Amino acid sequence: MRVLKVNTQDIRFPTSKENLGTDAVHVDCDYSATYVTIETDDQNLTGIGLTFTIGKGNDLCCKSIEYFKEFIEGKKITDIEKDISLIWEKVTNHSQLRWVGPQKGVTHLAAAAFFNAIWDLISKYYKKPLWQYIIDLDTKDLIDKLSFTYLDDVLTKKEAEEIINENKKKLLENTSSLSTTIFPAYTTAVGWLGYSDEKMTKLAEENLKKGWTHFKMKVGQDIKRDIHRCQLIRSIIGKDKKLMVDSNQIWSVNETIEYISQLKQFDIMFYEEPTNPDDIIGFKKIKNAHPDVKLATGEMIQNKVMFKQFIENKSLDYCQIDSCRVASINEIIPVLLMASKHNIPVIPHAGGVGLCEYVQHLNLINKFIITNNDLSLSEYAESCSEHFENPAIIEKGGYVTPTEPGYSVRIKESSLKEFDFNNGSYWN
Ligand SMILES: [Mg+2]
Repeated sequence: MRVLKVNTQDIRFPTSKENLGTDAVHVDCDYSATYVTIETDDQNLTGIGLTFTIGKGNDLCCKSIEYFKEFIEGKKITDIEKDISLIWEKVTNHSQLRWVGPQKGVTHLAAAAFFNAIWDLISKYYKKPLWQYIIDLDTKDLIDKLSFTYLDDVLTKKEAEEIINENKKKLLENTSSLSTTIFPAYTTAVGWLGYSDEKMTKLAEENLKKGWTHFKMKVGQDIKRDIHRCQLIRSIIGKDKKLMVDSNQIWSVNETIEYISQLKQFDIMFYEEPTNPDDIIGFKKIKNAHPDVKLATGEMIQNKVMFKQFIENKSLDYCQIDSCRVASINEIIPVLLMASKHNIPVIPHAGGVGLCEYVQHLNLINKFIITNNDLSLSEYAESCSEHFENPAIIEKGGYVTPTEPGYSVRIKESSLKEFDFNNGSYWN
């Protein structure tokens, strides 16, 4: 079975109309997907992948993928599976294209979409959900499919193998838990920054009734308003539920240190992306100023080398890996392994198109064969789930284990036709 053709589509949903996804710096998000389909010579087998963007620039990701097609078109699926690590290096270290990266920005988001589609194709070829395909792989075989470049000072392949094998031993003792797991999640749906008090109150009350126990809200517009919003949400959810805040990089290091002092009274589980996502030393200064609080970051940490530094330097307390920011499983699993070695819990980022569908697989891979940490938690943000054929399912505040083959991001044909930014009925 061979790959015939790789196609891309620029899909954009007009979510800015409802203030969905709004935070301190992203004030008019049109939730979008760079949507990749890999056609094969079997009509019933198509690889599908995406990366998430918020509108303008989605076309640039589509364009970048044009340069990657040559690495898989015409190739056998089994050869692509065997050589996936090599293909990853060719794409992310392309001798000319790397000048406009390397391994960051538009080209890396594009690489994420491309490899997300390849992993979807391979796991569908074996008729398994992606998490199951990964767990069933022989450990050495899995390691050979990943990228460990530039990581050996913090994590060697041998250590990676040991971590996975140790976890697999425990897994064998408890195989029945695999398909019945409800993976705990927190909701981000109640507190987007553009929401009025009335809308936040209504959503917080509804989500509390649905059984949610962990709530995240946006802050960072103005500290008085932030305090008011924290008071409002705490008054609804009570003292025993968990509350997190996310200021989406808007504060300087010194502002963060000051504002955390004012927000501490609300018993915040973690402060997410308080300052610039590249500021490894700045995060550490914040932690030194407030040793009793926890920091979370990761959705804009652009590659595994940045994660390496954040993790080794203990500049973060919770690792919020993003399935579409770094370039897919090849890079994500090494980050999960570094987090495991340093006993840092992973709470994947999921506010965006397809991200909930992706993280449900990452959560299970991490829980079953990688992490040595007891904390199980993931984000859920119900973003555009109505457009998916098999959206992530939530029960009692947790993800239900996906059982369909693949990596779960097929968008409905009707939605593709309507919201294609070039030809769709909505945009024309
Ligand atoms: Mg965030």
